[in-house]
Amino acid sequence: MAQRILIVEDEQGLRLTLGDRLRNEGYEVEAAPDGAVGLDRASHGGFDLIILDLMLPEKSGLDVCRDLRQQGLTTPVLMLTARGQTLDKVVGLKIGADDYVTKPFEMIELLARIEALLRREERSTRAPGAVYQFGTVRVAVRSTEVFRDGRQVTLSAKEFQLLRYLLEHRGETLSRDTLLHEVWEYEATPTTRTVDVHVAWLRQKLEEDPKKPQWILTVHGHGYKFAESKDDRASTAAPIA
Ligand code: CA
Repeated sequence: MAQRILIVEDEQGLRLTLGDRLRNEGYEVEAAPDGAVGLDRASHGGFDLIILDLMLPEKSGLDVCRDLRQQGLTTPVLMLTARGQTLDKVVGLKIGADDYVTKPFEMIELLARIEALLRREERSTRAPGAVYQFGTVRVAVRSTEVFRDGRQVTLSAKEFQLLRYLLEHRGETLSRDTLLHEVWEYEATPTTRTVDVHVAWLRQKLEEDPKKPQWILTVHGHGYKFAESKDDRASTAAPIA
């Protein structure tokens, strides 16, 4: 099956050239002319990769990327930046972009980067950890779906990100500050109380008895920990393939 690429680029010439070239390479291509349309397509489209221009009308590439990540979408993002535009790579990485190409670029270089990102993505989705199971709860990280007793549980984007972070660091005691920093990084002045509230919501939705949590444990004086071993509780939250 052809891999699907979304191009979000306001320069029509480049959008068309790039689209044609990628189709010739066997990719299925869709394009969006501004950030708002791009975000909408990307949120609904099931793409394998997104090529995202930094300077876009309606919504900048950075904003689009950040919003996608906050929705829990993990599709690789390749940013296009113009020469002279100072994109702080650290900012870009924190926002969740995966790679950058500076315009003007050689098509061959862009294709190589695309292939590399797609290969990396294929590896990571095959890796254990893409799906977690604990008790009767199953968490599919890639599709951001959570099931309990076979029924889908609706989590907010933040709840999902918090759960994912806890699962990825299971067995580690995580302070409220760490969780705030890692999960709420871009939001205006949340407090440690925000963490407690979200933990309570997650327990409400996922724990058999939210008052006596078996998975999302409180470590008094320190923070929280997702139960890892039999010492923590009766069974184990292990990544399954
Ligand atoms: Ca542009």
